[in-house]
Amino acid sequence: MSTQLDAIVDIRGLNKWFGALHVLNDIDLTVDSGARVVVCGPSGSGKSTLIRCINGLGSYQKGTLRLAGTTLGVNARETAAARRQTGMVFQSFNLFPHLTVLSNCTLALRRVAGRSRGEAEDIAMAHLAKVRIPEKAMSYPGQLSGGQQQRVAIARALCLNPRIMLFDEPTSALDPEMIKEVLDVMTALAGDGMTMICVTHEMGFAREVADQVVFMDQGCIIDRASARDFFGTSGHPRSRLFLETIL
Ligand code: ADP
Ligand code: MG
Repeated sequence: MSTQLDAIVDIRGLNKWFGALHVLNDIDLTVDSGARVVVCGPSGSGKSTLIRCINGLGSYQKGTLRLAGTTLGVNARETAAARRQTGMVFQSFNLFPHLTVLSNCTLALRRVAGRSRGEAEDIAMAHLAKVRIPEKAMSYPGQLSGGQQQRVAIARALCLNPRIMLFDEPTSALDPEMIKEVLDVMTALAGDGMTMICVTHEMGFAREVADQVVFMDQGCIIDRASARDFFGTSGHPRSRLFLETIL
């Protein structure tokens, strides 16, 4: 059932197991409209699993997850509609290799949103311009650098006008010189007021953009703080230890 509450994501007591492995342990997380949340933590701590649950890609055994006012998993049609409010960007870009950049961006606009070719191309070109890559519209993903492909993936996600963008380590597969161009696009998106949850270990980005940093370890949220507190001396000891290993 839809409600008018302001939280775009509202997670209560979320638990998930892979067999005997408790991968999400009593997760509570609320993300308000316009919030920018950075999720970090060691490999295997459950960050991707959490993001996939929020995107409706993963099942869970206990707890509730409300996305854009809809409790996921109650009604299939409402769940699908809520999922369409999210844009997801993966570490591995996941562009369709056999489609041009433009077609990658227009595909869902035409098939899911029912736009005409002309409308879809106008919307796609506007977003490709926003991620500063309109000149590559007729290229194929394999002809682009990793950073360019990831910017296309961001544009593609934006085309469906999501209320929240979910990023899962969007720069960790990139060569160092390409990381900045992707982070710059994400920073600009935040500046435009986009609600976002970013799994990333780019702590410069977290400092600059995040208003909340969430630290996960072994399926639990261990620490949740403003960026200032998270990076300040008052941070949780476990987060500080983690920061020392990556900074
Ligand atoms: P992170 O993104 O923080 O590195 P993940 O969410 O990918 O962590 O994984 C959390 C834990 O769940 C890890 O121990 C991982 O091995 C396990 N896991 C992830 N996906 C599966 C799966 N499909 N089946 C079984 N175990 C999984
Ligand atoms: Mg992961």
